[in-house]
Amino acid sequence: MNETASARARAEIDLAALAANLGTLRACAPDAALMAVVKSDAYGHGAVRCARAALDAGATWLGTATPEEALALRAAGLPGRIMCWLWTPGGPWREAVEADVDLGISGLWALREAVEGARAAGRAARVQLKADTGLGRNGCQPGDWPELVAAALRAEADGLVRVTGLWSHFACADEPGHPSIGAQLTAFHEMLTYAEKQGIQPEVRHIANSPATLTLPETHFDLVRTGIATYGISPSPALGTAAELGLRPVMTLSASLALVKRVPAGHGVSYGHHYVTPGDTTLGLVPVGYADGIPRHASGTGPVLAGGKWRTVAGRVAMDQFAVDLGGDQPAVGERVVLFGPGDEGEPTAEDWAQAAGTIAYEIVTRIGTRVPRVYV
Ligand code: PLP
Repeated sequence: MNETASARARAEIDLAALAANLGTLRACAPDAALMAVVKSDAYGHGAVRCARAALDAGATWLGTATPEEALALRAAGLPGRIMCWLWTPGGPWREAVEADVDLGISGLWALREAVEGARAAGRAARVQLKADTGLGRNGCQPGDWPELVAAALRAEADGLVRVTGLWSHFACADEPGHPSIGAQLTAFHEMLTYAEKQGIQPEVRHIANSPATLTLPETHFDLVRTGIATYGISPSPALGTAAELGLRPVMTLSASLALVKRVPAGHGVSYGHHYVTPGDTTLGLVPVGYADGIPRHASGTGPVLAGGKWRTVAGRVAMDQFAVDLGGDQPAVGERVVLFGPGDEGEPTAEDWAQAAGTIAYEIVTRIGTRVPRVYV
């Protein structure tokens, strides 16, 4: 670890909390296998360390978006099943087949490239056919499903693929009662029934993300894919707080005050002078900025626990730093301030930052940059 960098700012990653969250999720879906989704560097928490902790805590699958992320996990020695789903033409198909990665397949072009990868690797590719049941993003449209299923069966008969999974993804599982949930589930059942009637025998059928795992047992099938809840964050305020869902936030982001100084009333603070001190006061300089993933949209709104009180970002968040108005308090330079954490010592949470920045907590943790060292506790 880089001590100098960690003195400036650090993201503590509580792997015991991650393990406890997986315990909660497994209790919600006791009959399903659990895939820990560790894409985007485990939502900013560090993919390799979190993947290991997740397998130790009972996950049997790891999920990534890109094949490069999946291959990096294998290169780091991660065992178990790994699946990736975000392919583009010319991707590392052969390498992924050789590394025993399950390949999410959304259409005929991808199946063709997987087959070529299998030929090059000299072994069958494990493919999982993805149905677009209504998300309108990746996945095969219902009208194209028969052709994809038929092509997969032919490739399976040739020994070039093994169809290990049939799967889909929800659009609105974090909105309780949203009519699309039932509609997607119906479409998924229809697409599963069709494929299985044609002779596909998947090991796993899956559609549930974190909100569905936590609140919709009828969506669990054989496997649940949990991302945000693994990291102890509620998928949406509409489902309750992390604590209400039995989750504990894994990341705590803190920084050391880089400067503490008295300024007179009427002093403009940071670019644009969007904050002007209302009276004589103390400014504290927090040495993280938008280059570290602190949202510029939280200028004037982002909360920080400093000296036992919540302070608000004074003026604009800059690339590397922002100021807080400490009023009459005079903390020492170097004193640690907490931007977000579990919340049980009075600090804000990632959800509070999401609200301050007009975004979702997924984005807050995922964007914390590589300049902030992760410290595993
Ligand atoms: N499955 C897929 C295909 C995803 O893209 C994602 C994340 O966006 C997940 C599962 C995990 O979702 P969540 O973080 O809501 O659990």
